[in-house]
This record gives sequence, C-alpha cells and structure tokens, in this order.
Amino acid sequence: SKPIAGVKGTFSERTFIAIKPDGVQRGLVGKVISRFEERGYKLVGLKALAPSKELAEKHYDDLKARPFFAGLVNYMTSGTPVIAMVWEGKDVIKQGRAMIGATNPLESAPGTIRGQYCISVGRNIIHGSDSFESAEKEIGLWFGKAGELVEWTPANVDWIQSDN
Ligand code: GDP
Ligand code: MG
Repeated sequence: SKPIAGVKGTFSERTFIAIKPDGVQRGLVGKVISRFEERGYKLVGLKALAPSKELAEKHYDDLKARPFFAGLVNYMTSGTPVIAMVWEGKDVIKQGRAMIGATNPLESAPGTIRGQYCISVGRNIIHGSDSFESAEKEIGLWFGKAGELVEWTPANVDWIQSDN
C-alpha cells in the first residue's frame, strides 16, 4: 500500500479535509463533497465522528498557545459530528486550500467554500491540510487504522488524468 499522504506532486497526493460541526449542522456536507468530486479529485476515506478532546487538541496542536484555542477545541468537540475525509489527486493539498479560501471568511474570495458559505473565523465550516507534512500528520491522526483508506481507480480516470 502507498504512503499515507501518497506521493507529493503526483496524482496519488492526498490531503485531509474535514467538514466542521457548523458545516454539518448547516447541511453543507453534500455541497462540499460535490466541489471536490466535480474538480476531479478522488474520495479515498470518509467517516462521521464526534472527535474527542484529545483528538481535537492533537489536530490543532500548533495553535495551543493561541487565545482562541480552548474555544476552538470546544467548537470541534460540540458533539455534532465532523465529516473527516481524505481526497486524492494532483496538487490536491494546495488546490484544496485554494478551494476552501482564507481562514477568515471575510477575506475569502467569493466562490471559495468559505467565501460562499460563512462569515465568522470561529465558524468557518471546513478544514484542509496546509502542507504535505500536515497532510501526513492529520491523515494519520484521523485515519490511523489500517484499511480505512481505499485504493481504487475511477472508471473515468483517463478523462481526468493526463500527464501533459
Ligand atoms: P486554517 O488552516 O485556515 O483552518 O486556519 P488556522 O490553522 O490558522 O486555524 C485553525 C482554525 O482555528 C481556523 O480554521 C478557525 O476555525 C480557528 N481560528 C483561527 N484563527 C482564529 C481566530 O482569530 N479566532 C477564532 N475564534 N478562531 C480562529
Ligand atoms: Mg490550519
């Protein structure tokens, strides 16, 4: 089986995308999934879970000194599920971040996910890995168990992938 975040810069590159509890409560799961599907990315992992405090704290470990950290962890552990996903395809880490938009939705370009669906930095509906190293860490954290990610070939692969 392949490395957990695939191979950077290839069609096997992977990113961790999560629809946060506000995105789930607001019924935006299908819309977010559709954007990644329609772009040509491949869904290789998906689950709904209400993350533990430990998982949320590990996920946002780099922000633990920030004043909003406790509120961020409370928001993520509200009891409403998070939809945790792994998407695969060329440049998916950087493209995923671009599709999501800026952290503060008021600075997100119109047409990005945050720029279309939200207005508060503390309720910005979606997460995406910001680098290959983050993708490795986050996929490992949320999809640690063997067999949770699926290797499969879409029937339309040759209509999406071309090397030039
Ligand atoms: P992201 O990678 O774009 O999600 O942004 P960061 O990694 O910088 O922050 C992670 C998450 O923490 C953001 O998506 C927000 O949900 C939250 N966050 C970041 N900055 C702030 C802030 O200034 N205030 C609040 N309330 N939440 C914030
Ligand atoms: Mg981040």
